[in-house]
Amino acid sequence: MAAKFDLEKCIQCGVCAEHCPEDIIKLDENECPYVEYPYECWYCGSCVIDCSVDAVSLELPLFMRLVPKPYEKPEVNIKKEY
Ligand code: SF4
Ligand code: SF4
Repeated sequence: MAAKFDLEKCIQCGVCAEHCPEDIIKLDENECPYVEYPYECWYCGSCVIDCSVDAVSLELPLFMRLVPKPYEKPEVNIKKEY
């Protein structure tokens, strides 16, 4: 879960780690990003948006992928009889 990094594309700029509001993205000794505490991710998307080379993707948990069906107002034909 949480952010996934494509290290083929990553240019090791560190922006994702800098901008993560939860401070859960860390850089290893080669300046490559990794998520230290994946269960603390808010899925805010900053890491994805701010990466200039599209090296970050978010794997959303199942509950966030289940979009509830919008409420459909039933069609009601009421004949007014006076
Ligand atoms: S912002 Fe993108 S390019 Fe920069 S370290 Fe993070 S994943 Fe790599
Ligand atoms: S989605 Fe937000 S909280 Fe989660 S790793 Fe990316 S920047 Fe951090």
